[in-house]
Amino acid sequence: MRTACYSIGLRTRFRGLDRRDGMVIEGEAGWGEFSPFWEYGVEESRAWWAAAHEAATLPYPDPVRTRIPVNVTVPATTPERAHAIVTASGGCRTAKVKVAEPGQTLGEEQARLEAVRDALGSSGAIRIDANAAWDLDEASRRLPILDRAAGGLEYAEQPCAAVEDLATLRRRGNVPIAADESIRRAADPFAVVRAEAADVVVLKVQPLGGVRAALRIAEQIGLPVVVSSALESSVGIAAGVALAAALPELPYACGLATVHLFERDVVGDPLLPTNGELPVRRVAPEPHLLEAAAADEAVTARWHDRLAAVTGSRA
Ligand SMILES: [Mg+2]
Repeated sequence: MRTACYSIGLRTRFRGLDRRDGMVIEGEAGWGEFSPFWEYGVEESRAWWAAAHEAATLPYPDPVRTRIPVNVTVPATTPERAHAIVTASGGCRTAKVKVAEPGQTLGEEQARLEAVRDALGSSGAIRIDANAAWDLDEASRRLPILDRAAGGLEYAEQPCAAVEDLATLRRRGNVPIAADESIRRAADPFAVVRAEAADVVVLKVQPLGGVRAALRIAEQIGLPVVVSSALESSVGIAAGVALAAALPELPYACGLATVHLFERDVVGDPLLPTNGELPVRRVAPEPHLLEAAAADEAVTARWHDRLAAVTGSRA
């Protein structure tokens, strides 16, 4: 199997990262991406490899739609910049606004949400993402205030870390709840469902072991799914698009419009939104772009070691 490793700078610091690196692989069906974050161990990375291997060796399940609505992601920035990001989003009708940034005040979050509402207009949808930062009291206090500032929130993504706290917030009923960080492995969505902790679940192809595995999980849990990226190149995003395309129902915009966070991409036609949607298609890296994005020797060696540890052999 042909492999290439990339290391690409991020335009905005995201998930504590300034660069993202990973491996793309080519098999008989096309290209797949293997890019578990470095804090994930061998055991956890096996699902990420299964996803890459599936993408490279099997066709994707039949799509039931040809375009995927996606959200624009608004980082914890100023109201002016938040407004500009939404306006320049490629027509996205849904915005995901980051909140709970250390050092920021509730007032700053309110102002950001007001700016996003202004840019989206009344028909757009706004969701917030607290990345598990609040305790239950903090979340209970903030959610109604942020809901008002946004002119209505579609949902709050992972306001607290603990599944039982999500369940408590959900019972209080101020704002619908989505689970993201609570779902890192294939068994996790079921725990969220059992606890009645979420109205929506965020599913990512790589950590769940591939498009087919994620489809099975979606079918079994019976909750609305938002397919999101794991901050991947367009090769990884294409697998998320394939999942979103194959889901019988897709009531919410997906979190797959993250390629613009990368300074470059490995494909010539990146999966970026137009009219707020991504097209459903496969992508293939171009040699000169792989070259331009190539990881240095040390990073490449690290990926090959990791692949060997995960698969028990070298690709
Ligand atoms: Mg999230």
